[in-house]
Amino acid sequence: MSHPHDGVLGFSDHKADIRLSADAVVVGSGPGGAVAARELAVRGLDVILVEEGPAFSTADFRVEAGATMRRVFRESCTRVMQGNGFFPTMQAIGLGGGSLVNSAISIRAPGWALDKWASEHDTPQLGAGSLDDDYAAVEEVFGVGPTPDAVMGERNLVFKRGCDALGISSEPTPRNVRGCKGSAECFTGCRNGAKQSADVACVPDVVSRGGRVLTSVRVDGVKRDGARATGVVGWVVEPFTGRRAHRVEIDAPVVVLAAGCMATPLIMRRSGLGVSNGHAGRHLRAHPGLAVCALFDHVINPFEGATQGYHSLHFLEQGMKLEVLWGPPAILAVRFPGFGEPLKRHLVAFDRMAPFDVFTHAPHSEGEVRAAPFGDDPVISYHLDDRDAGTLQRGLVILSEIAFAAGARAVLPGVHGVPDPITRDQLHLLRDARVTAKEVTAGANHVFGTTRMGQNPRNSVCDEWGRVHDARGLYVADTGTFPGSPAVNPMLTCMALARRTARRVADDR
Ligand SMILES: Cc1cc2nc3c(=O)[nH]c(=O)nc-3n(C[C@H](O)[C@H](O)[C@H](O)COP(=O)(O)OP(=O)(O)OC[C@H]3O[C@@H](n4cnc5c(N)ncnc54)[C@H](O)[C@@H]3O)c2cc1C
Ligand code: SF4
Repeated sequence: MSHPHDGVLGFSDHKADIRLSADAVVVGSGPGGAVAARELAVRGLDVILVEEGPAFSTADFRVEAGATMRRVFRESCTRVMQGNGFFPTMQAIGLGGGSLVNSAISIRAPGWALDKWASEHDTPQLGAGSLDDDYAAVEEVFGVGPTPDAVMGERNLVFKRGCDALGISSEPTPRNVRGCKGSAECFTGCRNGAKQSADVACVPDVVSRGGRVLTSVRVDGVKRDGARATGVVGWVVEPFTGRRAHRVEIDAPVVVLAAGCMATPLIMRRSGLGVSNGHAGRHLRAHPGLAVCALFDHVINPFEGATQGYHSLHFLEQGMKLEVLWGPPAILAVRFPGFGEPLKRHLVAFDRMAPFDVFTHAPHSEGEVRAAPFGDDPVISYHLDDRDAGTLQRGLVILSEIAFAAGARAVLPGVHGVPDPITRDQLHLLRDARVTAKEVTAGANHVFGTTRMGQNPRNSVCDEWGRVHDARGLYVADTGTFPGSPAVNPMLTCMALARRTARRVADDR
């Protein structure tokens, strides 16, 4: 039987310096890069897709979260954005990028969010409906469909029951899976081969159409002839150590950067392309999120059921999305308060807990990514505005109300200055607390905007098709192009935009 990574070249296949040429080279194999490479290959271009990380297969995934975090994430999963607080952010390094480890939530941005892009962010061609064909095409490739009841598990169902009791709308999450078993292991990699990550859904089509896929190749810069991109240069790098082994040079008249919004602007800065107006790396936007952990009297087994199988879009236009989180022991335990006996009491009650999260599209908050003086990892800053922190606080209160309506006896709100846990009668303590960036640790794995699109070349990096304003032959196809928040989880929009950009590349030839 064929394997999704058949034909993919890895570290041990690279025996000497590499010199290649192609019609197009795509840098980064996350949802954006893999979709762009697939679309270009389908349209008959000779494509090379390069990825810094290795390929991970079902047999490589370790269900122990610590082991996965060390191997599959940048900076061993300790990456943070720093500013007026401390904001953990995760970026994967491996074939498939973030789709390897994400929860497979695949949801279209609502029309009003795209209209906001169009009106507030100078992208008039990207209003409601403009991405419908691209959304439909990538949904088909990635097998997107609502999470079936059979794999929900109690953790997802208590959330639904709580929402129903309060009259809050909720729905099964649409996800890119085929034959999901509800094992809640999406974060550590799907050992069931059910998740349609980009390496599974796209890479085989690239290879079958004659495209070349090189893993363990880190691109350092874009080759240029004046303002025209002519290829990329970089190194074969050893997995997990990053040790440089062989030089890499690829000539191509089309270069698509999809290294993720933390890496693409730095490649541009090193290359001197896309940087003339100084905006590359700025305008970093995120979806900061917080979670409550609900404590029930009956067994939930939070490690069972589809990773994030239920969500609520009820408060989306008020700036927040509510979701069920997943709960592997090693991750949940980090959230438990106290030491010694109190901590032990939480640990033994683990099977009766359900974590729920809220993220905000944080319209008032922004950051920047810059090159560090030493090493390859970036310096990332982010400022969480008090108004956006207030939205998160409101979300925590609503999540707690959902938990209590579903029968929880207490919740752990995880806010400095508010007791952990609180009962229903104490909810006012959370409601009345002053919550700013300092009182919480808001994580943000949805990041975007550092090479934003726009019509005006003075304040944006790419046009609405992902073409870099001040360079020819250079395109961007990762979440960096988002001019604003998609209001929901970003992957599907990233993929739809990447397909749209690839269509333009093919048309531009
Ligand atoms: C734990 C987690 C859960 C998430 N859950 C969801 C979810 O359920 N739904 C959703 O919509 N979104 C989710 N997200 C966010 C989503 O995964 C990202 O928005 C998405 O992966 C971004 O895609 P991208 O192509 O822009 O970048 P990435 O996925 O980051 O891919 C970039 C790729 O480029 C490679 N690369 C970087 N630099 C170089 C270089 N110099 N040379 C070569 N290759 C390079 C990287 O190794 C990486 O593989 C989640 C993210 C995380 C971390
Ligand atoms: S819930 Fe389990 S089976 Fe389903 S996609 Fe995630 S890891 Fe795979």
